[in-house]
Amino acid sequence: MINRVKTKKIYVGDVAIGGDAPISVQSMTYSKTSNIEATVEQIKLLHFAGADIVRVAVPDMEAAMALKEIKKQSSLPIVADIHFNYKLALIAAQYVDCVRFNPGNIGEKNRIKEIVKVCKQRNIPVRIGVNCGSLESRFEDKYGQTAKGMVESALYNIKFLEDLDFTDMKISLKASDVQRTVEAYRMLRPMNDYPFHLGVTEAGTLFHSTIKSSIGLGSLLLDGIGDTLRVSITGELEKEIEVGRAILKDSGIIKDGLNIISCPTCGRLEANLVDAVKEVEEATKHIKTPLNVSVMGCVVNALGEAKSADVAIAYGKGSGLIIKKGEIVAKLATKDLLPKFLEEVEKEAELQKD
Ligand code: SF4
Repeated sequence: MINRVKTKKIYVGDVAIGGDAPISVQSMTYSKTSNIEATVEQIKLLHFAGADIVRVAVPDMEAAMALKEIKKQSSLPIVADIHFNYKLALIAAQYVDCVRFNPGNIGEKNRIKEIVKVCKQRNIPVRIGVNCGSLESRFEDKYGQTAKGMVESALYNIKFLEDLDFTDMKISLKASDVQRTVEAYRMLRPMNDYPFHLGVTEAGTLFHSTIKSSIGLGSLLLDGIGDTLRVSITGELEKEIEVGRAILKDSGIIKDGLNIISCPTCGRLEANLVDAVKEVEEATKHIKTPLNVSVMGCVVNALGEAKSADVAIAYGKGSGLIIKKGEIVAKLATKDLLPKFLEEVEKEAELQKD
């Protein structure tokens, strides 16, 4: 049972973050933002993949100006990602739904004041995006690149914004390793109620990022921490959304589609289970009803798993069983099992649809 920490609700466009809002999943385009067509195309791909929010880099004035047209064509709320040059934030804020700045490289506080002023006028939030690798020097000098350093930076900037009478913000504390990331979010959580954007930054390629993000984000989510998240994967776009959603699903936070239980296979295997599971995954992608199904390679554990599954297959020698909610509903030749199983899954999904 997860007790989600209650946070302040803010809005990025029409997407609520924090409070009782569902945890949103976001990603970032990697096209040159000044290339409007390519950026809009990537936003479409992300939308189709299930993203709730998109972030775009704003490295120069051309990118900042391009946001006007990108926003018009975007089906997702846009966060402008600003480093170093606060003037880009002032332009970007005219068009987007949220501005992320990195307090470690934006420079003197008057610049943040200017950003806040525009965001206030437009009634859009900011993300204070603290990165362990680019902490403000006074925090790095004192605490090093540590969780404590990130937390102190966040606290300082939160207070600065609050003193400007601005509380429309979310916070991120990202390091490139899981331990510092988790430690920082856990440390900061009891100190305020601003929504948290979770992420392990620069997490690597698909394999490594999936592991790092699952451990890091998963640990925090199970603690009830986190209001929106990004899985950062080198060179992937839609996969960031797929993995982000899978983390939410496998943490038990969202119920969406099939939870497929399949055995790892061993010398007792009675069928080509690998192909069977792949076929089940492919054929049931469209199902949104949350169902537990199990596909097991022999009777050893199949009957036990079938007890808690909505629909199950237990392969045996030359034939096998279809089991629904613990009851055997068919005994068929191996070749006929999968079609019957998929038929029963469809029926059950329809029956349980609300
Ligand atoms: S269910 Fe059967 S085939 Fe699958 S791992 Fe267990 S014993 Fe092996």
